[in-house]
Amino acid sequence: MSILALVALCGIQGYLIHNTYQLKKDVFIKETKKSVSSIDNTKEIDSLAELWYNQLAKNLTEYKKNNLLKNETIERFKPFTDSLNDIFNQYYKKEISKADLGYPLQYKKTIKSIIIYDNDVLDTIFYSEKGNNYFLFGENFPEEEGNVISNARWFTEHDYEDDSDEGEILKTTLDVEIKTQDAINIIGWKKIVFGQMTSLFIFSVVLLLFVVVLLFYSIKSLIQQKKIADVRNDFINNITHELKTPLATLSIASKSIRNKEIQSSPTLFSNALDILDRQNNRLQKLIDQVMNNTLGSEELLLKKERVLDNEYLNNVIEDFKLSVRDKDVAINTKIEYRDAYLDIDKFLVTTALFNIMDNAVKYGQDEVVIDIKTELTKTGYTISIKDNGMGIPEKDQPNIFDKFYRVHSGDVHDVKGLGLGLFYTDQIIKAHQGEIKVESKQDIGTTFIITIPTIKE
Ligand code: ATP
Ligand code: MG
Repeated sequence: MSILALVALCGIQGYLIHNTYQLKKDVFIKETKKSVSSIDNTKEIDSLAELWYNQLAKNLTEYKKNNLLKNETIERFKPFTDSLNDIFNQYYKKEISKADLGYPLQYKKTIKSIIIYDNDVLDTIFYSEKGNNYFLFGENFPEEEGNVISNARWFTEHDYEDDSDEGEILKTTLDVEIKTQDAINIIGWKKIVFGQMTSLFIFSVVLLLFVVVLLFYSIKSLIQQKKIADVRNDFINNITHELKTPLATLSIASKSIRNKEIQSSPTLFSNALDILDRQNNRLQKLIDQVMNNTLGSEELLLKKERVLDNEYLNNVIEDFKLSVRDKDVAINTKIEYRDAYLDIDKFLVTTALFNIMDNAVKYGQDEVVIDIKTELTKTGYTISIKDNGMGIPEKDQPNIFDKFYRVHSGDVHDVKGLGLGLFYTDQIIKAHQGEIKVESKQDIGTTFIITIPTIKE
């Protein structure tokens, strides 16, 4: 749609430029015409015309007296015209340089036709075909290069004495119509007109570029907005689902507590209470997670403390093992026992590690194997957590740390989540001036590599 509008705009621009070009050309030629038209109305040209006409009349008289044939008349007259042209040329060149146009100009006047009117009978003495400049004043140039500035037609009368066969002398009047055409050729006019239009060209190109950029940005922001809307919708769907399950379990558990049978059995009763507790905790955690990520957009405040790496990590892993009960999870650890000290916010880093291990279980196979390896390097302390799960498609890998981002693999997993886990993890690691990277192959597994700076004593 917008592309169509752009094309239309281009068309309009092109049309406008073309119009301007025509207009400029017309104005330019008109102005030039104006400045040269005066040349034609000067005494010198008038007297030249008179000279020319007198000679023509003489020849025509001879023709009328049958002393000359039609073509002889014309042929005889030609050298005279040409001789006058030298004077004409000199003269008009001087006048043009006086007009000070600033560009070279060629000027020509051609005779189109010479016709004798004899008692309403037309006798065409001379007729010039298009492009034929037999009688020419000025400089010759091809018809298509020049611009006609005027067509003139003048009638003259010429009296002559006709001594007829009988010896009487008759006074006869010769009516002659002469058609002329004036044309000019402005050498390099295209260059001049285009030169005048450069600013227009530049302006329209800039305008067009501006529109293209604008279009590009609006399309981009439209796509972005759509993405955000999609993410929002996903989030709402996910959170509804996440909330529904514990609530349903809670209502079943509370119903069972009312049951006399269960009330009478302490084990069943405490089981039901356990369920209540667990679901309650789950809801609490869920709400905390959402609150942490959606409301608190400000930076994380760290309560750092110094911990010994192996001690801390072993505790985290033990705690995690306790939290997963319904799946077969094996955690292999290879922790460098070098007593590295880390300055971290224990609570937050634990959350980060839990989120990663949580994913390893969530998106893992029935038998989950997690390998945890640590390393102390020059750049920092590295913890890599590798799983044997479904892996993350390459195209999704750059996005998994985005808020609410979840891989849409439709049929593969119907595991619900909010897409907040890794986002939060990333935030936590970044707050520690650390870095988190992911390496993953589909159907083989995923490795998350966390690097946090070590303490510089
Ligand atoms: P939440 O953690 O908020 O409950 P979540 O697990 O969907 O929801 P993240 O932890 O941010 O969100 O993970 C983002 C997405 O990355 C997941 O939806 C999942 O598709 C993919 N993912 C993350 N970890 C793994 C993993 N270990 N194996 C396969 N896919 C993973
Ligand atoms: Mg997760």
